[in-house]
Amino acid sequence: MPNPGGANDAPSFPLSEIKRLLGEQAASLIDHIAQGAQERDLPLYLAGGVVRDLIMGQRNVSIDLDFVVEGDAISFAMSLAIKSGGSVQEYQPFGTATWTLDSSAGETPAHVDFACARSETYSHPAALPTVSPSDMQRDLLRRDFSVNALAIQLSPRERSGILLDRCGGGDDLKLGLIRALHQNSFVDDPTRILRAARYASRLDFVIEATTDEWMRAALSLLGRVSGQRLQNEIDLILREGRAGEVMLRLQKMGALAKIHPAFRVSSQLPELLERCNELRPPWSSNDINRQALRWIALFTEIDADEARSVCERLALRNKLTHSIVASARLAERISRLEDRSLRPSQVTKILDDFADTSLQAAWLLSVERPYAQDLIAAYATEWRQRRATTTGNDLKARGIAPGPHYRRILDRLRFAWIDGDARSVEEERQLLQKLLEDLD
Ligand code: ATP
Repeated sequence: MPNPGGANDAPSFPLSEIKRLLGEQAASLIDHIAQGAQERDLPLYLAGGVVRDLIMGQRNVSIDLDFVVEGDAISFAMSLAIKSGGSVQEYQPFGTATWTLDSSAGETPAHVDFACARSETYSHPAALPTVSPSDMQRDLLRRDFSVNALAIQLSPRERSGILLDRCGGGDDLKLGLIRALHQNSFVDDPTRILRAARYASRLDFVIEATTDEWMRAALSLLGRVSGQRLQNEIDLILREGRAGEVMLRLQKMGALAKIHPAFRVSSQLPELLERCNELRPPWSSNDINRQALRWIALFTEIDADEARSVCERLALRNKLTHSIVASARLAERISRLEDRSLRPSQVTKILDDFADTSLQAAWLLSVERPYAQDLIAAYATEWRQRRATTTGNDLKARGIAPGPHYRRILDRLRFAWIDGDARSVEEERQLLQKLLEDLD
């Protein structure tokens, strides 16, 4: 917790806490970066979420270190890499840089981010900001919420440990409030509506009453935000432990419908996402793409055509759109699997159109249909792989003219194996013989 007092009577954050909360390796990396800034006479700060989590006494799980310098962040990051190794990716238009460390192990982060202190102005609602270099105090004013508008100074040394909190973030952390910094916050950037809901659930905080009013007043502006920016925020939400709750909250306040009129989520979403996080279909290997499954779970209330349109609105990449739309189609067919008279080959015909991600999603999302679930698992583990021993070349060798009947014959043989009507090469051969006679 910060102390009142400290250098020049400004509130301070005890730097020993950094070591305690982030671990020795991250703390010595921070020291090393502070030393580099000191040598270059560059004011340096740790800012944003990591400061919030440090003040709350939480371990920043991913050790996501965001540094701000009053000066040139890109050349500072370069100087660190020249001295200590690693590589720098610069983002010239924003004056930001990511330093990827050579070796990251244990509690050392894989990369750290640098930005120059900046102010932002918005030419019109929901526009991208115009950025200009500034100082840390003003940089805090461009941020989303008071609890994120916090920084710890690290250089120069005599100011090291000073806590910058001009928006009352420290008090709001104690009160458990998500508070926007000014009335136009959500007009400038409506994605903050999604962010407010995300932080409220994550931290178990309340959205402060006036902030809540500002947020609701700006809802319709979500319609003007680019798909890519909305997608980024929803993707972050889906990585949270309480993502279902966040999405339901956004739905209740009308935010999802403003993004796209067909965008709605299931009241069961928290449970569906829990399954995506915890369960593993019995045939799946370790590299199961849980984030794709969470995206699919978001669309269980939307039919395939509408799903495509919502995916377009969110500018989702083609592969994910395809998985979501296919899964919506599969969900529409899933009740057919409840018919207990279906033979395995008939199940195979229903499921053959779908890629593995859709099958995994269907398995996870149909827990209340155990019979259908067992069929999906049997298909994925067994029937999907089954092939007849006869090939197209064998048919050709028998002098049968190529044509669409090749596929029909080979399918019939495969289905015979799947249904147990052919249990040996000899039985398959007899069936083939019969099929060829029928052809004549
Ligand atoms: P966490 O999700 O734990 O908060 P983080 O703080 O690193 O992680 P980022 O999304 O990386 O979150 O953002 C870093 C900081 O940048 C935030 O703490 C916030 O101060 C600021 N920020 C990010 N997005 C916005 C936004 N849309 N408007 C204003 N400030 C933002």
